[in-house]
Amino acid sequence: MKKKINRMLVVIAFLAILFTTFLITIVYHGLYEKQVFEDLRNITGILKSKGISEGTDCVTVDGVRVTLLDEQGAVLYDSEADSNTMGNHSQRPEIVQALRKGEGQTVRRSETLATNTYYYALMLENGQVLRAGREASSVLSIFVSALPGLLLVLAVLIVMCMVIAHFQAIKLIAPIEQLAEELDETGKSPAYTEMEPYIDTIKRQHEEIIQNARMRQEFTANVTHELKTPLTSISGYAELIETGMASEEDVTRFAHGIRTSANRLLTLINDIIRLSELDSTEEKMEVESVNLYNLARTCVDMLTMNAEKHQVTISLEGSEAWVQGNKQMLEELLFNLCDNAIRYNNIGGTVLVYVNTTQERALLKVKDTGIGIPKEHQERIFERFYRVDKSRSKSTGGTGLGLAIVKHIISKHDAEMVLHSEPGQGTEYIITFKNR
Ligand code: ADP
Repeated sequence: MKKKINRMLVVIAFLAILFTTFLITIVYHGLYEKQVFEDLRNITGILKSKGISEGTDCVTVDGVRVTLLDEQGAVLYDSEADSNTMGNHSQRPEIVQALRKGEGQTVRRSETLATNTYYYALMLENGQVLRAGREASSVLSIFVSALPGLLLVLAVLIVMCMVIAHFQAIKLIAPIEQLAEELDETGKSPAYTEMEPYIDTIKRQHEEIIQNARMRQEFTANVTHELKTPLTSISGYAELIETGMASEEDVTRFAHGIRTSANRLLTLINDIIRLSELDSTEEKMEVESVNLYNLARTCVDMLTMNAEKHQVTISLEGSEAWVQGNKQMLEELLFNLCDNAIRYNNIGGTVLVYVNTTQERALLKVKDTGIGIPKEHQERIFERFYRVDKSRSKSTGGTGLGLAIVKHIISKHDAEMVLHSEPGQGTEYIITFKNR
C-alpha cells in the first residue's frame, strides 16, 4: 500500500509539473507575441508620425525590418533588401488586411520552426502601406532552449516529491498499522472516520471468533465431562464383575447398570453428532412441503406409551398446517419438545400439542402442566448442556442438548419461538413458521 501511495504521489507530481510547464509556456508565448506586435505597432506609429515616404533612405530600428509599399503592394523601400529585387507584396496577409482595414498583422513560421517573423502593417494617409517586421523565437524553440533547465527542475522536484511522498505515505499508513495492534482496545475510534464501518465489522468478527473459540472450548470440556460419567460407571461395574466379588444377583444388576450407561453414551453421542451436523453450514437442507399436523400426530402416537409410563396424558389438537421445511428436522423438533414436556411433567399432568394456521402462517404449540422453568433460567436453557435440574434431566435420560438442537432447527427454518413458563404451572412453546 505504501509503495502504491508513493508511486501515485510521484506520478501526480510529475503530471502536475509537466502540465504547469506546458501551460506557462503557452501563456508566456501568448503574452510575448502580444508584446512583439505592440512594439511593432509603436514603431510604425512613430515612423508614420515622422513622415516616412518614398525616397526615405535609411530608416533603421534595431532588429526591425521596415518596408514601405505603394497602394498596389509594390515595394518602395525596404531596410534590409533592395526594393527593386523584391516582388509584389499585395497578396501578403498583413498587406491585404492593411489595404482593406487600415492595419494588419501576421506571423510567418520559418521552415525549421525555430523562429517566427512577426509583421505589422499600417496604411498611411496617402494610401501607401508601412510594414514593420521582427524575427523572434517560436514557442517550440523557447521550449527547447528551456528544456535542460526544465529537466533539471523536474528532476529536483521529482526527487523532492519522492522524499515527501515517502514520508507522507508512512504518516498516512501509520494510524492504520497502529489500529491493527490496538484492535482489542475497545472505545478507541480510528484516526480516519471513513474506516469506522470496516473497523466495526472487523471488531465484531474478531469478537465472534473469540466467542466461538470460547464456546467450542467449553463444549469440548462439557462433552468430555458428560462422557466420563457413564464410562466411569461402566468401568466400575465391569471391574466388580471381573474380580468375581459380585454375586449372581449383583452381576445382573451391574449388567443392567452397564447397559443403562452405554445407552446414555449412545444418546449423548447421537445428540453431539446431530448438533455438529446442524452446525455445518456447507450441507444444504432438503426442503419440501410438510404437513405439520400429520407429523405431530405421528410424534404424539409414538410418545403415548412413554407418557403413560410417566403418568402423563398427551394429546393433539388443531388442524392442518403446511410448512416448507425439512421433514426429519421438524420431526426432531416435535420429538424434543414433546419429550421434555413429558419428562418435566408432574404425575397426572397433561401435554397438549396444537397445530394450526393463522394469518397464512403455520403455528405449533407444545404446552405442558409440568414443573415450569424459573425466569432466570429461561434464556439459558437453549445453551448446550445447560440444565435447570441436573439430576432430573439425567435420571430421565436427558443430555442437555435437546433444546440446543431445537434452537438450531428453528433458525434453519427461519421460524420464531416464544417461551412462556411459570414454575409450578407449566411451560408452553409457541413456534411460528414464516414460509408455508
Ligand atoms: P435435557 O436433555 O436436559 O432435557 P434440554 O436441552 O432439552 O436438555 O433442556 C434443557 C433444560 O431445560 C432441561 O434440563 C430442563 O431443566 C429445562 N426444560 C426444558 N423443557 C422443559 C419443560 N417443558 N418444562 C420444564 N423444564 C424444561
